[in-house]
Amino acid sequence: MAVFHVASDQAQEKGTHYIEEAVRVYLMRDLDGKDKWVIDPASFGEPLHSDYDEPLATECLCDRADDCTATVSRMKDVSLPDGSELMYMLAEALGYTVTKAAR
Ligand SMILES: [Zn+2]
Repeated sequence: MAVFHVASDQAQEKGTHYIEEAVRVYLMRDLDGKDKWVIDPASFGEPLHSDYDEPLATECLCDRADDCTATVSRMKDVSLPDGSELMYMLAEALGYTVTKAAR
């Protein structure tokens, strides 16, 4: 039976930092007038907007504050994914292979 580990515990076990971010994926009501949510095209082509002011290390369990702060500083320079890149990240995390449909 798999033991559930939160990501901050996993980072500590690996001797690294737990730095987190969150992005907003924009949805809109279906343009054909159905009462359902669809992806707003604004979610593609540019990095998604962060839900935070900057990457957070508040849940990091390390005891190396200087290195942790330096890591957060470097992560500020790593661009956030756009919607398409996020799709691949989600697929990889969930074990899916993405294939583009012919249109
Ligand atoms: Zn840390």
